[in-house]
Amino acid sequence: MFDTLSDRLGGVFDKLRGRGALKEQDVVDAMREVRIALLEADVALPVVRRFIDEVTEKAVGQSVLRSVTPGQQVVKIVNDALVDMLGGEETVGLDLVAAPPVVIMMVGLQGSGKTTTTAKLAKLLREKHGKKAMMASLDVNRPAAQDQLKVLGEQVGVATLPIIVGQQPVEIATRALNAAKLQAVDVLLLDTAGRLHVDQQLMDEMKAVAAISNPKETLLVVDSLTGQDAVNVAQSFGSQVDLTGVILTRMDGDARGGAALSMRAVTGKPIKFAGTGEKMDAIEPFHPGRVAGRILG
Ligand code: GDP
Repeated sequence: MFDTLSDRLGGVFDKLRGRGALKEQDVVDAMREVRIALLEADVALPVVRRFIDEVTEKAVGQSVLRSVTPGQQVVKIVNDALVDMLGGEETVGLDLVAAPPVVIMMVGLQGSGKTTTTAKLAKLLREKHGKKAMMASLDVNRPAAQDQLKVLGEQVGVATLPIIVGQQPVEIATRALNAAKLQAVDVLLLDTAGRLHVDQQLMDEMKAVAAISNPKETLLVVDSLTGQDAVNVAQSFGSQVDLTGVILTRMDGDARGGAALSMRAVTGKPIKFAGTGEKMDAIEPFHPGRVAGRILG
């Protein structure tokens, strides 16, 4: 995960750490390399600028340069700034405090990993949080989508709403809510339709489903590998519905890290989980401190 970025930054910081004394120019030179590494990782330009300015200002302070281990201190400043950029020290979990059935609405583009992530989350809620979960697919555009969720539900041991061919998303959501109430379900996960591009029909459908289901969590699933595009998608969705968080999928294959590093700063939305593989338990709470640690090696 984030290997390319990590290698680049590792090279810069090994040089810094190896020196006994540091001059202001050494810090400025190192930050120039960090800037290039972040831009190559597809981090948004304004985010990179702010990061470099902030780190440089702190690092050229006399207390740092005159200290016994200036290189170490600069790396610490970079680490702290990375953690900030990733969303701060704390993991932001799910807020499920509401009268059951608590609704989690999953939104995103087709191919982002939305259906897989819905099932992973349902499994996590069942196994780690002891919740009775139910899933319903509202994707009536892609013929196999509803069946796909059903199959995944069987795999993870979570019930799915029986499929009635011909029903529209709002009708399915209404039926899912009623079924969840009748069956004393704690958490209902609604897997909304995705499309290849953000379009008005997708947004309208999502808003209509939100209006009737009153989700406590509206989670956007985006593909980490798409870098800046993932951030743009989050901005588009965020302008239409009240997103409570983002789930970044395919972090396992992402060598660059641009989406993770720009998401919070650009959209203001916390990354709540990371998808780390195709298996049903390949999902982890997104932990900025650990991710920063991995990037800095
Ligand atoms: P949807 O169209 O957004 O519902 O996407 P799917 O859930 O069908 O996922 C598309 C593909 O991405 C599937 O082959 C998933 O196994 C795969 N996928 C989803 N999440 C991850 C992840 O975190 N890591 C990896 N490596 N593959 C993933």
